[in-house]
Amino acid sequence: MTQRPFNFSAGPAALPEEVLNQVAAEMLDWQGSGMSVMEMSHRGPEFTRICAEAENDLRELLQVPANFRILFMQGGGLAENAIVPMNLARGGKVDVVVTGSWSKKSAEEARRYASVNIAASGSDSKFTQLPSPGSWQLSADAAYVHVCSNETIDGIEFHELPDLKALGSAAPLVIDCSSHQLSRSIDWSRVGLAFGGAQKNIGPAGLTLVFVREDLLGHALPICPSAFDYQTVAAAQSMYNTPPTFSIYVAGLVFQWLKKFSYAGKTGVAAIEQRNIDKAQLLYGALDGSKLFENRVAAHARSRMNIPFYLRGEYNTPQLTSAFLDGAKARNLLQLKGHKSVGGMRASIYNAMPLEGVQALVAYLKDFEAQYG
Ligand code: PMP
Repeated sequence: MTQRPFNFSAGPAALPEEVLNQVAAEMLDWQGSGMSVMEMSHRGPEFTRICAEAENDLRELLQVPANFRILFMQGGGLAENAIVPMNLARGGKVDVVVTGSWSKKSAEEARRYASVNIAASGSDSKFTQLPSPGSWQLSADAAYVHVCSNETIDGIEFHELPDLKALGSAAPLVIDCSSHQLSRSIDWSRVGLAFGGAQKNIGPAGLTLVFVREDLLGHALPICPSAFDYQTVAAAQSMYNTPPTFSIYVAGLVFQWLKKFSYAGKTGVAAIEQRNIDKAQLLYGALDGSKLFENRVAAHARSRMNIPFYLRGEYNTPQLTSAFLDGAKARNLLQLKGHKSVGGMRASIYNAMPLEGVQALVAYLKDFEAQYG
């Protein structure tokens, strides 16, 4: 087969080719069962095994402590913006740190279930900086503190999670890690709950991962739908209702792929994290060294996963942006258009993007600059 194009979609995003090939090979008959995974009972022995292996592999990859439950849910990141306050806020107050478009949405949704204190906002910097944790105005009585640990649209990432205890807050930290989960390790000692849609680093859309510390279970508001009550979902091992079986299966194959992944003498998450660092450095280096392109995010906050970039100054016209995107497509570099709310371009370089994909993009940036710069 000829090489597939490099796909820079922000999500649903590219999956490892090995995984796609395995899914294709097993499509009509999963391991001699005579069934596709889509056609199996979620309570049968085959799927029970698929699901348990996926959960165990994920726990091992991210070194999730024993006092955290891993839940396979549905509804995506946006549903979690409601499900989290319905489960954790107890009708009281929550602190939200607004660092971009997604945390802003989380704050708006939480207002329907709790009183929301915006503890800090990066809006003055047009979301190009992370407000430093020391400046956050945390409440004394918040039920939790919400941050989006990687803002997919703005291209901002927390490279260290805040230590709420050191900031004088006893509240658990909730992180929306949709767009960088599994790209790096997580310091669980600083986290109470983490959630994210699968459709970036993990698998097909339709699956939401929730990692929740056990002491946070069992506090849902009476209005919380049973299928979204973490306690109910945990007690039923994510089988309270029919889970997104096919997405869980593909995610499980991605976990197996990642367990075997090696790079720079490392394996697993450490290896993928190192490759993600190298890919991001290569691309930011090319943008910073360019007279035609720019990334506007402060160095300390730059995302390794989502890199928005623009044509500089007078070059930043719709015509030249379109010419760039058309030329990219012609070179098999797909889905580089920026989010509609901010325009420009965005390269999402999740786990499945090889170094060669970023090298091909950098080569194109240079050629485009030589032609138009
Ligand atoms: N949070 C973040 C950080 C996201 O990137 C996204 C989706 N791009 C969402 C939440 C919303 O997720 P979903 O579309 O799965 O509801």
